[in-house]
Amino acid sequence: MIGARWGAAGATGAIGPARRAASGPAPQGETARAATVAPVNDLAEGPTLEEIVALCKRRGFVFPSSEIYGGVGSTYDYGHYGVLLKNNVKNEWWRSMLTDRDDIVAIDSAIIQHPRTWEASGHLEGFSDPLVQCLGKCKRRWRLDHLQEAVEAEGGDPAGEIRCPECGGELSAPREFNLMFKTHVGPVAESGAEVYLRPETAQGIFINFKNVLSFSRKKPPFGIAQIGKSFRNEITTGNFIFRTREFEQMEMEFFCPPTEAERWYQHWLAERMRWYTELGIRPDRLVLRPHGTNELSHYSSATSDIEYLFPMGYSELEGIANRGNFDLTRHAEFSGEKLEYFDQASGERYVPHVIEPAAGVDRATLAFLVDAYEVEEIEGRQRTVLRLHPRLAPVKVAVMPLVNRDGMPERAREVFEALRRRIGAEYDAGGSIGKRYRRQDEIGTPWGVTIDGETAADGTVTLRDRDSLTQERVPIDGLAELLLDKLAADWVSPKTS
Ligand code: ATP
Repeated sequence: MIGARWGAAGATGAIGPARRAASGPAPQGETARAATVAPVNDLAEGPTLEEIVALCKRRGFVFPSSEIYGGVGSTYDYGHYGVLLKNNVKNEWWRSMLTDRDDIVAIDSAIIQHPRTWEASGHLEGFSDPLVQCLGKCKRRWRLDHLQEAVEAEGGDPAGEIRCPECGGELSAPREFNLMFKTHVGPVAESGAEVYLRPETAQGIFINFKNVLSFSRKKPPFGIAQIGKSFRNEITTGNFIFRTREFEQMEMEFFCPPTEAERWYQHWLAERMRWYTELGIRPDRLVLRPHGTNELSHYSSATSDIEYLFPMGYSELEGIANRGNFDLTRHAEFSGEKLEYFDQASGERYVPHVIEPAAGVDRATLAFLVDAYEVEEIEGRQRTVLRLHPRLAPVKVAVMPLVNRDGMPERAREVFEALRRRIGAEYDAGGSIGKRYRRQDEIGTPWGVTIDGETAADGTVTLRDRDSLTQERVPIDGLAELLLDKLAADWVSPKTS
């Protein structure tokens, strides 16, 4: 959707009231934290997308793709910390689907599938968006439904005349534009070898229903989960990694007896909301928006979107749909295979109904970044900090010698080598200690361990907390256990008011 911005002034300048007072012993290498800690970016508004883009580039999370060739529109490459963060998002999803439950199994299906898949699923016929083009100066292309939503949001008539939002020009009549990328298998581009890059991971699950049922010893209710790349030739991309043409999805198809579908739909609505809030997204930034009857796909009896308050307004993070038996029935029809479940105990044979929570890895990653971003002022100096849930943070602990002499680097390296086997750690010796803390704050590292003059004498180090900025002395013995306990503890964003 094209939402209203949070306000052009979203970022710097507005100094809010002091939120947290300093505590703990005086910090090392950074100004002692006095009672004046003020968020600089307005918490009610959140960061602008430009600030997030700048941080991502500066700290190696996300780069515009093919930059040395001038870039390809709306295509991004993930850098080191972006890869670690995205992996953590995916791991948390797997944890919630597989580790924490015993009724879901995993799959990793191919990107290129039999073209009949997309006939059966309806994508060949119906996976299109209404495209309009500006006939005025700018010639830009737009999704008509997005323009209509924007007009409606401003109280206008979506059925009335709509002009180009860029230059005010007249718009062409809409035409349907299929979003699937077409390619060819084999050396000759003949029509028989035409295939598509999958526009969603879900169909790879449905076409494997029979395989999974026969090997997994599961019976409905059970789910099949998948994470993988999907491709959509989107008409209007944008808003950074929110909408791109190549993206990752995390989708799970939950097969259940028809009479249980509504109960499982409710279950997954609650579960998926819980997943985001448990990982630190502030609940007042999330909404569950049920689709109106005019928005529902013809086969779906109910769909709800989880929306997050992104810098461009509330936008979809994830969709949860009750898909009925549409997918299995269609694939059975097109393939000639029976895709049903026979319950030996009751003698009942039925096509399971499906509840689908479908999320985007990149959108979730963006939401976690936006929600975590904060600029605050400590005694006249600004610090930018990503208050990420420790389980999502790319690096859990940075190990730093206070100065690069007096045996400190050697001791720090030893501590680091011991920690890295147990927990995601980074050795950081470059620049002043203050600069290193700032760098780690910007990538969201929850803990910093500093080896200083006292370490050689008593075997203790300073443990700095990213959020409270407290520093405590702790023994090297038991440090890994202490950090692992902290990592396993429940966590609530300190930005939650
Ligand atoms: P939208 O209405 O924003 O186009 P959708 O309703 O078509 O999304 P689904 O088909 O339900 O999306 O896909 C499930 C999830 O995949 C979305 O909630 C989103 O997180 C992610 N997703 C879909 N399209 C894109 C895209 N172009 N770029 C990034 N993520 C996407």
